[in-house]
Amino acid sequence: MKVGVVGAGMVGSASAYAMALMGVGSQIVLVDQNDKLSLAHAQDISHATPFAAPVQVTSGGYEDLKGARVVVIAAGVNQQPGESRVALLDRNADVFRQVIGQIEEYAPDALLVVATNPVDVMTYVAWKLSDNTKQQVIGTGTVLDTARFRTLLGGYLGITPQSVHAYVLGEHGDSEVPIWSSAMAGSVPVTQLAEQMKKPLGAKQIEDISTQVRDAAYSIIDGKGSTYYGIGAGVARIVRAILDDERSVLSVSIMSDDILGVKDVPVSLPRVIGADGVITDLMPDLSETETEALIKSATLIRDLADRLSL
Ligand code: ADP
Repeated sequence: MKVGVVGAGMVGSASAYAMALMGVGSQIVLVDQNDKLSLAHAQDISHATPFAAPVQVTSGGYEDLKGARVVVIAAGVNQQPGESRVALLDRNADVFRQVIGQIEEYAPDALLVVATNPVDVMTYVAWKLSDNTKQQVIGTGTVLDTARFRTLLGGYLGITPQSVHAYVLGEHGDSEVPIWSSAMAGSVPVTQLAEQMKKPLGAKQIEDISTQVRDAAYSIIDGKGSTYYGIGAGVARIVRAILDDERSVLSVSIMSDDILGVKDVPVSLPRVIGADGVITDLMPDLSETETEALIKSATLIRDLADRLSL
């Protein structure tokens, strides 16, 4: 099955690399306004495939997206010094106008997976500009924050992150909400598990881990300029869930009619993902503090989306 990646920068190329290594799809096509860049990444990634999976990796124009089942959108511009978030959003909305018009022309049946930041509002933009349903325009949302939460929590408890079932919901950004109240491993709540494993997991440790999850991007950017491997693997995971009709539960962002009273907002919840995109939204039991934080987070995204001139 063909997967398109529009925007072959760091995130787009890392997504393609992760898909090639994980054997997601049979053909990956990279498209970028910088043809030389998409060609170079396609060549480099294709040289990894003899060691990984039989995935064909090429670059091309929008016409080469014809027949793609999924198109990942990672195209965007970087924030300029002194530029406001809304001004950046307006410029990225312009990028999406060009990109989505072309995708609609050549791959009108493709599901869209949006990775461009700020991803929640860009998911709204993509949905608004495309003919897809809300369930077929999936923002990576907090899929990465959830992975960071599981990694840090697993590391602290001394168990593999694969065995930690915990989610970050809300905005992919500073207002995100780690859901501690239902965090579990082996059907044991993590606070009880911590006691059993003789590791303290009190207010201080919870605060520390939450802060590290929230600020992970800042520390990575400080060290190497941008983040891409984690999100690349997250994109590949979402695309695989679609192509294989997995019905896996992943925390992703889609336009939602109502999140705890906040209307028409793109926000992450745990969602079941299969061949048609999002099949079901799940709303976990939340503590009072988590409920308030999720409402605040959704309201923030809503306010930002409202300031966009589409
Ligand atoms: P990130 O770290 O988010 O991946 P990059 O700047 O590395 O950021 O990548 C963004 C990519 O999006 C660049 O390769 C850029 O050429 C591409 N891009 C920007 N605008 C467009 C557009 N209108 N059409 C196609 N690609 C675009």
